Amino acid sequence: MRLVQIAAATALAVTLSACGSAEKTVDQKGGSTEGALVGVTMPTRSSERWIHDGDNIKKALEGKGYKVDLQYAENDIPTQANQIENQITKGAKLLIVASIDGTAITSQLQQAADAKIPVIAYDRLIRKSPNVDYYATFDNYKVGVEQANSLLAGLKTRGEGPFNVELFAGSPDDNNATFFFNGAMSVLQPLIDQGKLVVKSGQKDFKTVAILRWEPATAQKRMEDLLTSTYGGAKVDGVLSPYDGLSIGILSALKSSGYGTPAQAYPIVTGQDAEVASVKSIIAGEQYSTIHKDTRKLAEVTVTMADAVLKGGKPEVNNTKDYDNGNKVVPSYLLQPVTVDKANYQKELIESGYYTADQLR
Ligand code: BGC
Repeated sequence: MRLVQIAAATALAVTLSACGSAEKTVDQKGGSTEGALVGVTMPTRSSERWIHDGDNIKKALEGKGYKVDLQYAENDIPTQANQIENQITKGAKLLIVASIDGTAITSQLQQAADAKIPVIAYDRLIRKSPNVDYYATFDNYKVGVEQANSLLAGLKTRGEGPFNVELFAGSPDDNNATFFFNGAMSVLQPLIDQGKLVVKSGQKDFKTVAILRWEPATAQKRMEDLLTSTYGGAKVDGVLSPYDGLSIGILSALKSSGYGTPAQAYPIVTGQDAEVASVKSIIAGEQYSTIHKDTRKLAEVTVTMADAVLKGGKPEVNNTKDYDNGNKVVPSYLLQPVTVDKANYQKELIESGYYTADQLR
């Protein structure tokens, strides 16, 4: 069934006549959900995407008549746990959580379950808890596959190889980071095995290349260390970077080491999120590509889910096998990511209305 049909069917099923005239929507417990409070917790404002996510979700929920408590935790786990507890205390009827550490809010989620408050994991899977009802995200494995494909496409413009590449992964406590890395390695590992790609540092396993909390400065430091320890006389041709913020740190390390000149171009550097600074960098010919995940669509799917759940119905999902959180397979709705580079940013980011041309100047 399509989302609209589901929403219509659900609304019909749970819309009851109250006192003959006015209509009232009720949840599974028989309580009114009209104008209910929804708690939304986002990881940090330090990355643009989460600001867009929060704004989009708030606007869409308010458009459906809900009240919204939107909180950011600046990547601090205890802060996020407190925010969730506060939302439960304030009487939230549903929680939408983009977690910092997907395993660190188990007791708060138990409190939510005890109070019969449903939970939707937003973008990042909440792990090791039975108390997560649905998950809305992008196809995270595919994000990684696309990052690797884009790295290869960029390298192809530089000749035949073999190419020296270095690998970066995201935060080890974010379930997505493993999906991105595994997706990318499904493409890159065979080429590494054939000697067409050479990871000169030898650092290939997830734990070694992961960057805690997705910190740009940590990625910059790691890239500086790699350049010093491994690339004395040699050149790095490509860097698998899973997120624009890291790509900026990586490019900055490369710049300090003499890359980004007519004589020594930057390596092919990937990214994710189509953040303004990185899209500008792509337009300037520095970063090679990013993965665009339209946060407007993710917010829309999530709010449609939330609305269905609040009205006592079942939301549409399109994946019931890939997101095992260690406790259960969480029914998920996956959206499709799009690779953006210099050739298609106009179409994907400007013509789609995601950014104005001015924002990217
Ligand atoms: C998100 C990415 C983002 C990263 C860092 C991941 O969980 O899926 O879009 O780049 O976190 O914020």
